[in-house]
Amino acid sequence: MIELVFTRRYSMAHRLISGLSPKCATPHGHNEFVTVSLAAVDEVSLDHSTNMITDFASAKGAWHEWIDDHIDHGFQLSDKDPLLIWAREHGQSWRIIVTPGDPTTEMLCALYKAKCNAFLEANCPVLRCTTVRLEETPTNTVVFTGDPYEHLLKTEGKDHWWERPDMSTHDLD
Ligand SMILES: [Zn+2]
Repeated sequence: MIELVFTRRYSMAHRLISGLSPKCATPHGHNEFVTVSLAAVDEVSLDHSTNMITDFASAKGAWHEWIDDHIDHGFQLSDKDPLLIWAREHGQSWRIIVTPGDPTTEMLCALYKAKCNAFLEANCPVLRCTTVRLEETPTNTVVFTGDPYEHLLKTEGKDHWWERPDMSTHDLD
């Protein structure tokens, strides 16, 4: 099996309000590396006119645009975080990422895998994301290989930003 593996670095801020990790309730940031592994949906051989499965631009273009322009320097907040009320009134220029519950690295992996697959379905249907590796710090990394929808809501109408192949990162009005 051939996998295409792409890595992107970005800066982010978040806070966790569940109380399990009290010091994480203070907004703080990390410089993270996200790595996605993309494999062919069906066993395909290389296209012998190009010796590629597909061109890299259609495999990673939308994904990297989303990371660079919407995730980088974004503030990740739980949909239950009261800071969202303030951010909606006063933080119009902020990049906000709203997650179902606390924006832990584990949750972001599931959201990223769903979003990456939404982009691939729309732009590059020969590939699917198999693994998301999210390095929060040089010593803490989460690797996600499962079905993101075991952890996320899926709806018929693609009501959630992680289901849509667009640049959205929240579903606020
Ligand atoms: Zn943190």
